Amino acid sequence: MADLTLRGMVIRTVDYRDNDRILTLFTAEQGRVDAKARNCRKATSPLLACTQPFTYGEYQLFCHKNKYIVDQGEVLESFYPLREDVERFAAAALCTALCLEGVQAEESSAAVFSLLYHTLSFLTYGDNAPGDLAACFLIRFLSLVGFRPAITHCAVCGRDLREDPILRFLPDKGGAVCAACAPVGRRIGKTALEAMRRMLLLDDDQIGRVKLKTPLRKEILSQLLPYATGYLPGIEKAAALFTSLHMPPRAAEQE
Ligand SMILES: [Zn+2]
Repeated sequence: MADLTLRGMVIRTVDYRDNDRILTLFTAEQGRVDAKARNCRKATSPLLACTQPFTYGEYQLFCHKNKYIVDQGEVLESFYPLREDVERFAAAALCTALCLEGVQAEESSAAVFSLLYHTLSFLTYGDNAPGDLAACFLIRFLSLVGFRPAITHCAVCGRDLREDPILRFLPDKGGAVCAACAPVGRRIGKTALEAMRRMLLLDDDQIGRVKLKTPLRKEILSQLLPYATGYLPGIEKAAALFTSLHMPPRAAEQE
């Protein structure tokens, strides 16, 4: 009998020794759980498939000296196509990096787990632009973990922003700010704020409906990524990979 049986998604792998790996599993009930998988990188290992990044599986764990060790695992969903498309991979890696940084160990995280599972499903099997799903994930994730930016009311004075012609988005102030409170700084369009508000209203199984025009997608991502990195600096590497693929400087200059 295993000490713990759980269902979770592999959101980080750290290889050590010749064939071993430490997994960070993200579970709906218990947040993040770290477990060692011995010999899992051998081609003949029964753990080979269930210890791959993004895999959702059922794992049987033993506890040894206060550390979990994977005894058995069964793949429930591999999300395998993510590994064959670099743009989708980068979007999925950004989502899992956010969960790694923003979700605590031993803390129920059912809503964030559902968001991640649905986002990876649409990234794998849907026809959305990966950047649309990443933008939608970002705003919904930030809301769920308590870092929701101000998008309807000024982050400084609290007044309704929907009638203001000039708005700015200042991560250090907490989001969108009216012109009176912030006479300088990077602007944000009303359409971008409205798109963010609408993305928050969807159910998780509806996020495949998000279809943004390229300039709007880039505007939202270019505001939300630095904002998220400010609160969760650990996502910096995943954010840089995502940016290099989805918002390369050369493409931005052409617009
Ligand atoms: Zn204000």
